[in-house]
Amino acid sequence: MNMPDFRDLNVFLTGGAGFIGSHTVDELLKLGARVVCLDNFDPYYDRAEKVGNLEFCSTDPRFELIEGDIRDSVLLRHTLRRTKPNIIVHLAARAGVRPSLQDPAGYADVNVQGTAVLLEAAREEGIRDFVFASSSSVYGNQGGGPLAESLPTDTPLSPYGATKKAGEVLCHSYHHVYGMSVACLRFFTVYGPRQRPDLAIRKFVRLALDGEPIPFFGDGSSRRDYTHISDILTGILGAIRWARTSEPRYGIFNLGSAHPISLSELVNMIERSVGQPVQRQMLPLQPGDVFQTYADTSLAEAELGFRHEIEFEDGLREFVRWMIEKRSSES
Ligand code: NAD
Repeated sequence: MNMPDFRDLNVFLTGGAGFIGSHTVDELLKLGARVVCLDNFDPYYDRAEKVGNLEFCSTDPRFELIEGDIRDSVLLRHTLRRTKPNIIVHLAARAGVRPSLQDPAGYADVNVQGTAVLLEAAREEGIRDFVFASSSSVYGNQGGGPLAESLPTDTPLSPYGATKKAGEVLCHSYHHVYGMSVACLRFFTVYGPRQRPDLAIRKFVRLALDGEPIPFFGDGSSRRDYTHISDILTGILGAIRWARTSEPRYGIFNLGSAHPISLSELVNMIERSVGQPVQRQMLPLQPGDVFQTYADTSLAEAELGFRHEIEFEDGLREFVRWMIEKRSSES
């Protein structure tokens, strides 16, 4: 990693108290950047988790936390004018596929309206460079092979996926009309320490450690391209560099492991990692869930220097250790 270019960087990062955001903050500070983080501590999961996520950076003088909402255009303009970032990394969102079926308008409000308000504030304050967190959910169901960015993405299966597609499209319009330089990153199921409590690996490991049955959706053949947070960070840093070239550009990049793991394999690996058998509670496939995610990462490798380095079972073992330590420190 080329360190010096990050020392001149002043990043405005939304969603920095969350899972991916807090790791991004830690990494940027480690590389010498200054980070202003905006997060509204959305109640989707426990505030204490998010406060804990910021434990390492909160005392760093190059870090500033603003508790506020990306839909607050006055706050945004005021903050951007005062802090003068040279790039915005926009990770704040209502995340989660299944809950978006219960509150589609709320998801659209934060993920689409919020992104539009932020892009407009960036334009007004002359901030050209922008990284946007999109998702593999934009692909919907598209057969068996790896998914390339060039595939059509007009048929997401959930309101969440639809809002992420809308965010990409909004970013493109700001690139086209105002010359903003935007990298949209399609994350494929991210895991690792601090993972969101609603996501399958964290839920399953918690249940396995408690000796409770794991919900087993469908016949176990659905597959996910689980991607370790440290690989995602390589992609985010690459995207920051990519967006900051002299000519503004727009690009969409998959960040995935390109090694999909089936639900059956996942549960078997969890059994091995926790060292005890787990019960499976058989349930039907859930509406809104895609059958498979499988990233073609060749574009991100060529353009962003992205690499998939953490093998899934190694990452899972590390995650189980983190969960055990977290639970023992809380008890
Ligand atoms: P997260 O919920 O842990 O983090 C999102 C953060 O955004 C939270 O801290 C939340 O408080 C904040 N936020 C929500 N609404 C806000 C608002 N109106 N104003 C300001 N802050 C707000 O989720 P995550 O897993 O870290 O995901 C980060 C981004 O990556 C999201 O955009 C998500 O859609 C995307 N993504 C994540 C995954 C994954 O597997 N985790 C996969 C694909 C895409």
